[in-house]
Amino acid sequence: MGGATDCDVLIVGLGPVGAALAGLLADAGVSSVAVEKDVDVYPLPRAAHFDHEIMRLFQQLGVAEEVLRHARPAPAYEFRSASGELLIGLPDSSRPAPSGWAGGYMFNQPGIEAALRAKLAASPLVDVRLAHSFESLSQDAAGVTAVVRGPDGPSTVTARYLVGCDGAWSPVREAIGGALFDYQFDEPWLVIDVKVKGQGRVPRVNLQICDPARPTTCVLMGPGRHRWEFMLLPGESAEQVLDDAYIHGLLASWEVGDDIEIDRKAVYRFHGLVAQAWRDGRVLLAGDAAHQMPPFAGQGMCSGLRDAANLAWKFKAILKDGASDAILDTYQVEREPNVRGYIELAIGMGRVVCTLDPAVAAQRDAGMLAAREAGASPLPPGAAAPMADGLIAKGTAEAGAMFPQPWSGPGADRQGLDDILGRGAWLIVDGPAPVAASLRAVSLADPLLAPFRDRLAAWLAERGVAGVLVRPDRYVFGAGPPLDLLAAYAKALSPAAAA
Ligand SMILES: Cc1cc2nc3c(=O)[nH]c(=O)nc-3n(C[C@H](O)[C@H](O)[C@H](O)COP(=O)(O)OP(=O)(O)OC[C@H]3O[C@@H](n4cnc5c(N)ncnc54)[C@H](O)[C@@H]3O)c2cc1C
Repeated sequence: MGGATDCDVLIVGLGPVGAALAGLLADAGVSSVAVEKDVDVYPLPRAAHFDHEIMRLFQQLGVAEEVLRHARPAPAYEFRSASGELLIGLPDSSRPAPSGWAGGYMFNQPGIEAALRAKLAASPLVDVRLAHSFESLSQDAAGVTAVVRGPDGPSTVTARYLVGCDGAWSPVREAIGGALFDYQFDEPWLVIDVKVKGQGRVPRVNLQICDPARPTTCVLMGPGRHRWEFMLLPGESAEQVLDDAYIHGLLASWEVGDDIEIDRKAVYRFHGLVAQAWRDGRVLLAGDAAHQMPPFAGQGMCSGLRDAANLAWKFKAILKDGASDAILDTYQVEREPNVRGYIELAIGMGRVVCTLDPAVAAQRDAGMLAAREAGASPLPPGAAAPMADGLIAKGTAEAGAMFPQPWSGPGADRQGLDDILGRGAWLIVDGPAPVAASLRAVSLADPLLAPFRDRLAAWLAERGVAGVLVRPDRYVFGAGPPLDLLAAYAKALSPAAAA
């Protein structure tokens, strides 16, 4: 393929991950075509929880206010035995997280997908083509050509890169021959989303009822919505459990009566899968196309949105700022360990919940209660560990950790550091800021930083460093002498040129 392309990036699939990627690219000045086989957002129950880092991403995308209309801070999360004993208790989100947002939110996925699509509709750099199905691709050194079938028949789209955000069955993954690693977790569950008419009788905390007679989940969603999930028992079919009368029977013991109205229902098999290669030349995978996990940790979509944030700034660096295409090799290096941490956490939680043998459940309860008594953590550690490798100044303080976001105050008109310093990379320096073309270098003495000065100065002082370089996705590139950081960043973006 030679000459000009239709767009910089072709995005296949306009679920939350494709939509977020298109929005982030547009904000960075990178054009995209987004093809989606359906017209409306996915109608069946899916994500109910996202964490504070994702709320920070929505803030960066300029949709925070709209998102909050469909979300509320997450309550405590409790795993209880059949007899009601607390096996695992995770706290509520009342303490602000390092991003300044609540630690987690319960939400309604279609509302948030609609907010993202509205943003795209307002951006001239995004060309959304609904009712267009990706069919095949070919690539060469200059770009990718995809065949897409729309209402008027097949057409081709050319792009510098293509990202498959096309979900669990990902035709793009198929097209690049992407094999999957399988965690061998495979459990069938019925998921029921309800509208709540009277709040009186629905639980106020998120619950996993680890009852071997019927493992059950009950969680809040966005305002006025709640979810129940029931594990299918041996011999039950999807058709049988999707029947409304059957569902009312399952809900009977919750005594919510006519406080609720069934809104949506589906049967899923929950599993853990990771694509072995997330990149083949100019084609990349993100979101469920690259990895899937059971919902017990509420991190599947969150992980996909982290993929989008990771890719978006690297595409901008390559396509607009002349960085080496080799930096795309750091994508899977950075994201896969984080995703696997969450998959293992979710499967660890799932193995606690999905126990149908009463003797095994009794043993589990006794073991977990004893562990709680002894103060031991019942869950695998390390899900949100900082990235250990990739496009970071390894060995410097906090490299690969998320940089916190201080806020100017608690009021409604408060501003976060991200609002003030804006998009792109930052170099924050205790002392005069060096001149830097590739990023925003700012001194703590700059009046812009006045509301945050004390907290930023404390962050630097606690680590004994004069500067911190923060990547556009708000992960720390490195901390240390400012000129060293600038040189290391330039080298990381263009390894061959600097060699
Ligand atoms: C019951 C349940 C509960 C969950 N709970 C949570 C939770 O609490 N928190 C959380 O973070 N995650 C949760 N998840 C996971 C979350 O819903 C998914 O990870 C997320 O929706 C994946 O987003 P995506 O954009 O990668 O894929 P999708 O949302 O699947 O989007 C893919 C898109 O690609 C389109 N597409 C497919 N093929 C083509 C083609 N050939 N051409 C064009 N378009 C195509 C599809 O139509 C679709 O719109 C849950 C999932 C389930 C099932």
